[in-house]
Amino acid sequence: MGRLKKLHVLVGALAVSAVLSVVPGGASAAERRVDVQGSVSVAVGETPTGHIVKYFLRQGTRLYGLDLNAAQRRSLEPNEQVSIAGVKRGSSIDVDHVQSVGPAAAVAVTGTQSVLVMRVYWNQRDTVSKQDAVNQVAVTDDEFYRENSYNRLGLTASATPWLQIAQPTSCDDIGAINNSAQAAATAAGIDTSVFNHDMIYISSADCIGRGWAEIGGRITWIQGTLNTYRTAHELGHNLGLVHAHSKSCTDAAGSPVALSESCVSSEYGDSFDIMGYVPPGFDENSPLQLSAPQKDALGWLSGRSLAVSDGTYTLAPTEDQAASLHALKLDIPGHTLWLEYRQPSGMDAPLASFPGITAGVLVHEAEPTTGSWLLDMTPGSLGGFNDAALPVGNTWTDIARTVTVRTDSLGPGGATVTIGIGVCQQIKNQIQDNLDQISILQGDLGEAPPSLKPAILSKIRALEAQNAKLSQQATQLRC
Ligand SMILES: [Zn+2]
Repeated sequence: MGRLKKLHVLVGALAVSAVLSVVPGGASAAERRVDVQGSVSVAVGETPTGHIVKYFLRQGTRLYGLDLNAAQRRSLEPNEQVSIAGVKRGSSIDVDHVQSVGPAAAVAVTGTQSVLVMRVYWNQRDTVSKQDAVNQVAVTDDEFYRENSYNRLGLTASATPWLQIAQPTSCDDIGAINNSAQAAATAAGIDTSVFNHDMIYISSADCIGRGWAEIGGRITWIQGTLNTYRTAHELGHNLGLVHAHSKSCTDAAGSPVALSESCVSSEYGDSFDIMGYVPPGFDENSPLQLSAPQKDALGWLSGRSLAVSDGTYTLAPTEDQAASLHALKLDIPGHTLWLEYRQPSGMDAPLASFPGITAGVLVHEAEPTTGSWLLDMTPGSLGGFNDAALPVGNTWTDIARTVTVRTDSLGPGGATVTIGIGVCQQIKNQIQDNLDQISILQGDLGEAPPSLKPAILSKIRALEAQNAKLSQQATQLRC
């Protein structure tokens, strides 16, 4: 669960907001030096081409924007406890120094989590009722996450009455929106701290736009569109997930290949995972399941996946709830791959329109902190990522020829796939075996009676000769 950072709202260690000195040089009364502690909140906002990230310091239910340089950003983890010195302007802090004072606590990704939908507006409410809000999360999103987690995670929900808040500077002024919403909830007698998550739904009469979410956190912001994709995607960020990417790669000659060291990544490029982009024409109320590496990052594949290096396996469809083998993890030099088999049932029913996804084995690359990439196992085909699965009868070999992956057959029981050892790896293994044997024989040589030494020496020479041939072969094959 490397990528998941901790979610525990800090209760102690928050308080100091001391005015140490007035900023020299005629700073206004609104600017003051502060030395404060709290936890780091990292919020991601959706854009069609990428995403925006904002950093905050959380104190209780309040968020203070953090103005950080790139190095400071890189040094911080979501929910890490920090001490910050800087200049406070309004509700944000221009950070001079940031220091970690405590590790991040674990994000809860199992059990039943409660969500408070806070309906807010500044000018005008819309028609989303309390019941609409509760049903979205506690019925539809709950079903989505129960199916994805194999019943390890469920959601309950409550909704506030419409809360009127001060108009923020923009719909993306999410710190101010949160702080105003929290204050309005408190004034209405609602204790938000008893919930695991706050989903701030902004009236469509005031804002229609993107979603935002704390990564490995508690708050989501939904700008005027309450549907399953928008809410369950943002809740996915709260669980610690980042986006479902895709990767387009080429070989040394510039020809498309499924995976190489020369790739272009697309932030939301895996459209077959709710953490990716919903393709045009897709119903935002029918989002697709999380892919295997995302489920693995949340610990939901335990007992349903295997780390393999070779052999033949049958993968049950991801959507089957019964406990069986759902995914294979395959480590090759420099890359970790996940193999799975998707079928158009349950939440994945819309996959019926994508035979190029369901008629083979889907392959993702995964990286612990930066997420997952869908790989196109039919590189160069006209279908792009819509036929990303490795079709029956096709064998894929990685660029270093370490492994081969072949989809043998598809049937009601699942997809049968064979992982083989690639030719370069076979040569490498054989050379190593020979070296091991040579080392043993050299040991024998020292202890052997003189009459046996010539025979041992001749065995060593034969193995050395074989290795020389194998090395030559490897060079010819450009291993
Ligand atoms: Zn997102």
